[in-house]
Amino acid sequence: MKSAFVLLMLCITLNVASQSDADVLKTIYKQSLTNGKSYDWLNHLSNQIGSRLSGSLGAEKAVAYTKAELENLGLDRVWLQPVMVPRWIRGTKEYGYIESALGKTNTVNICALGGSIATPALGIKANVVEVKNFEELALLGKDSIQGKIVFYNRPMQADLILTYEAYGGCVNQRYKGAVEAAKYGAAGVIVRSMNLRLDDLPHTGSMTYDDLPVNERIPSAAISTNDAELLSTMLKLNTNTKFYFKQNCKQLKDVQSYNVIGEIKGSEFPNEYILVGGHLDSWDLGDGSHDDGAGVVQSMDVLRLLKASGIKPKRSIRVVLFMNEENGLRGGKKYAQESKQKGENHIFALESDSGGFTPRGFSFDCTDASFNQVLNWQPLFKPYLIHYFEKGGSGADVGPLKTESNVLAGLRPDSQRYFDHHHASNDTFDAINKRELELGAATMTSLVYLFDKYGVNPISNLDNIKK
Ligand SMILES: [Zn+2]
Repeated sequence: MKSAFVLLMLCITLNVASQSDADVLKTIYKQSLTNGKSYDWLNHLSNQIGSRLSGSLGAEKAVAYTKAELENLGLDRVWLQPVMVPRWIRGTKEYGYIESALGKTNTVNICALGGSIATPALGIKANVVEVKNFEELALLGKDSIQGKIVFYNRPMQADLILTYEAYGGCVNQRYKGAVEAAKYGAAGVIVRSMNLRLDDLPHTGSMTYDDLPVNERIPSAAISTNDAELLSTMLKLNTNTKFYFKQNCKQLKDVQSYNVIGEIKGSEFPNEYILVGGHLDSWDLGDGSHDDGAGVVQSMDVLRLLKASGIKPKRSIRVVLFMNEENGLRGGKKYAQESKQKGENHIFALESDSGGFTPRGFSFDCTDASFNQVLNWQPLFKPYLIHYFEKGGSGADVGPLKTESNVLAGLRPDSQRYFDHHHASNDTFDAINKRELELGAATMTSLVYLFDKYGVNPISNLDNIKK
């Protein structure tokens, strides 16, 4: 029985070597859409384990689960890479209201930003200063801001087609808002959620105090877009409107956690590494199905799909499930640091951390020569409606692996609905479409297959592609 199986795999493998690249991609997509594992894995991560904030029990369970599942795939090696991570806990549910006159209040939907301190036990109530950016804040100055709550209310720009560009244009309010407001003696900070639509869900995310002394730190929270609109309107009607909020989140001591790593050893160039990955941690409000459960299971399935499609990689292929992308990037930094110490040569690294929606293509951080090589492969992806091949960023976790000659890339799914869910309580499994998730896994596997076969940027290879 076993020898028959070996013979079958040998036939498939030999078969792949003689197939055109177009046929190999066809096999990969077929495998993913008819026999994929990503959706089942994500179901378990989301519904059996749930949210996975660094240092939480969920994160610990996710490490054990994904390690065991990778071991089931019969890879050449599966291991854990220890990394110390910060541990922040939200505590009891936050509470906030707008007070238009004494005794006249409207309850609003808020959540503490990750890394924020708590309010005093009885909460904070103060007048509100609404601003759109740090320049407005500076113009108002200490006299107008001292003792008040700063309300950052710059919306994401709706006319940007790539929504993460709109996110990039807004997220400094969330990340640096407290540090900036504290300079002028603010009592606290409320930030409009990073969300393009109007709804009632507050979106969390990381914030920093930089090196602000502990006694100068102020609490900061996100408010839902609907409630941000309401607060803004009420401030226009009555500048004396007050805001109250209460939260009891806490930063605890760092704890031990892990990156989860699996590897298929390369048959010809075992010292050249190709990496696929996503981040295993997630925010705590939902179950992190899109951010980044999707990227985790797609990356795991890349290695399985290579095997299932009969592809025997020439180079070593690694899946890395990074810990702590959301509030520290410790996993990504640790991986790059150890890999540098060992002198590992990562010729290509691909990250999936933009949600599990329909894949459109990739963004590449590489030389022009490497990018031209990639463009040469573009026709192979046409049957799968993958058309977006642009130079740009890759991903936060693979970013530290950058060298002068390697290629870093990020999977780019359709982004229109991503920020409806990002870091909010509705980032849950029901928002995942099975086929879209599987198309993403197949798209990643196809690019890994091509980089494995042709390597990075050998100019002479540009004409060698089997059409
Ligand atoms: Zn993410």
